[in-house]
Amino acid sequence: MHASRKPLIAGNWKMHYGGPAGVELAIACVRIAPKVPKVELVIAPPFTALAACAHECEGKGVAVAAQNFYPKDQGAFTGEVSAPMLKDAGCTWVIVGHSERRQYFGETDASVGEKTKVAIASKLPPIVCVGETLAERESGKTLEVVRRQVAAFLDFIAEAPGVAAIAYEPVWAIGTGKTAGPAEAEEVHAAIRAQLADRLPEVAEKTRILYGGSVKADNAKGLLGCANVDGALIGGASLDAASFGAIAEAAQGLT
Ligand code: PEP
Repeated sequence: MHASRKPLIAGNWKMHYGGPAGVELAIACVRIAPKVPKVELVIAPPFTALAACAHECEGKGVAVAAQNFYPKDQGAFTGEVSAPMLKDAGCTWVIVGHSERRQYFGETDASVGEKTKVAIASKLPPIVCVGETLAERESGKTLEVVRRQVAAFLDFIAEAPGVAAIAYEPVWAIGTGKTAGPAEAEEVHAAIRAQLADRLPEVAEKTRILYGGSVKADNAKGLLGCANVDGALIGGASLDAASFGAIAEAAQGLT
């Protein structure tokens, strides 16, 4: 972590806790906030729980993110949800391009770029996800793939330095219990920051680059201690407030 960037700890609840149980979890996350004043906390519940969770979190040190959105303000797009609607529901962040969306819902570098552009223009800061598959890592293509994915939205984040965050999430580490070691993570994070610096030094200085992929309380400190890791995007461990809190406290301890 670097003193100039506030650590960001975000929980991606995926398709869990979309009703009253989500509100309970949000209330438990609110209780973490006073213990980690130097950490920015974000939770990303399913759409159905966003407004209720945002209501519980408002003014209490926990921001609410959506997990996805459609990059038009309104119209005949059955089943979709727009950035203005998410802001109305109390969201102040949106996750864009999660690998599960790329894998199961046909998202591409181009659609991730478009969503990043529209999220920033809509003043709904995106956490944009990138990361290689196991096959790509094993064939030595990790940096090539991640650079290509970042290139698809770099121009848009350069227009508002520090607004967007990037999450590096190796696909093989998501939900598998396997995690990149600190050195493996740092190599990719440093490469992303160098790519941002080539475009505009201010973007490199201000953009928080989160690590994601089986982050747990017991491996958080090692990962968050890396120079270019500015926080974490957490799936499974964010569904348990004690684990999520322990990861946030690890970040707080490194500030
Ligand atoms: C994620 O969903 O972004 C994620 C990193 O999941 P997990 O922590 O469960 O690997």
